[in-house]
Amino acid sequence: MSKEIKVKVKANTVQGYKRGYPLMTKESIVHERVLQEEGTIIQLVDEKNQFIAKGYVGKQNKGYGWVLSHQSSEKIDVSFFERKIKASFEKRKTFFHDANTTAFRVFNGEGDGIGGLTIDYFDEYYVINWYSEGIYSFKELIIQSLQNSTTFKAIYEKKRFAKKGQYIEEDDFVTGARGEFPIIVKENGMNFAVDLNDGAMVGIFLDQRNVRRRIRDVYAKGKNVLNMFSYTGAFSVAAALGGAMKTTSVDVANRSLAKTIEQFRVNGIDAEAQDIIVEDVFHYFKYAARKNKTFDLVILDPPSFARTKKHTFSAAKDYTNLLKDTLAITEKNGVIVASTNCSTFDMKKFKRFIDQACKETGRPYKILEEHSLPEDFRTIPSFKEGNYLKVVFIQVK
Ligand code: SAH
Repeated sequence: MSKEIKVKVKANTVQGYKRGYPLMTKESIVHERVLQEEGTIIQLVDEKNQFIAKGYVGKQNKGYGWVLSHQSSEKIDVSFFERKIKASFEKRKTFFHDANTTAFRVFNGEGDGIGGLTIDYFDEYYVINWYSEGIYSFKELIIQSLQNSTTFKAIYEKKRFAKKGQYIEEDDFVTGARGEFPIIVKENGMNFAVDLNDGAMVGIFLDQRNVRRRIRDVYAKGKNVLNMFSYTGAFSVAAALGGAMKTTSVDVANRSLAKTIEQFRVNGIDAEAQDIIVEDVFHYFKYAARKNKTFDLVILDPPSFARTKKHTFSAAKDYTNLLKDTLAITEKNGVIVASTNCSTFDMKKFKRFIDQACKETGRPYKILEEHSLPEDFRTIPSFKEGNYLKVVFIQVK
């Protein structure tokens, strides 16, 4: 690697970096010009030129790069990446030994010591997510480290560093023997079809594992279930396997119909007995209210931001209204599973949205349980924003 460049950080950020804050921000650096070249190794120093930490330049919407080490002598080489990956695998040992769950996250960015990089495991296949050109510049070293740490059928990748962090559409195969997709992975005994080479999303969001399990094991039995923003219907599958009377899945994307039928099929559920609706949820709310359709269990898992022809939805601005629409079609004593992956607000604020929606519609409520990221999505206390997932089970009168 080329030489490391020293960069002074502003006095008010020194303590934060010493305590383990991992994100290099524009605001914290005295001469941000030096943060131009992706992949450059930077040494953060204080006003007296004393070493604080080192990291790499990698622009993401979140910042300008990530801290990698607090030791000035530690080299960022293949052995560095190998140590990080081996340590992260060690922490997922119980997952690797669990025959009922064959899909999970093995490396979670800053939570495992390298921001901007995540690695997911899907039954002997790996998917690497690169969140900046900077981290991508270490690709060879990182692939080498993964090869030195484990065996696999193949590695796939997602380059998530086009404008605004968008995924770059291309063949995502990296190395190994190409898979024949879909492959079927297991999660707490449920089956999910995944395709690792079909765009940005593979068919399942692994961070909702515990929520799916609770829906199946505790909340679904005998219930009329509505799954909004259903994608491939993973929550509907969990509900159906848990004995739901019926599930209704609503998603505006055309692909969701075939994908949802497939997820039901690989679990031995008759998709004909379920409703799968390709439609804007805001349209569906109106339709359901007009037809006096109501549900006992409603799952709400919108994207942080979405634009359809008629509607722009922003979780930070519109979640309260989304809940009000939901409350209008939720039975007395029904349960709403409200979820968001929006990192611009925290659990406290999310609960304020919930409180506001219930108050404005005159529905007393009780919070039954809450979830954030599962343990394989490791986070660190010095970077609370890294724990973006917020899920609240709300019972409404
Ligand atoms: N709950 C899903 C993941 C949701 S991903 C799961 O657990 O697997 C977000 C989904 O919202 C995408 O599939 C997208 O197509 C859908 N979506 C976005 N805006 C929408 C809208 N206005 N109406 C219906 N679906 C929408």
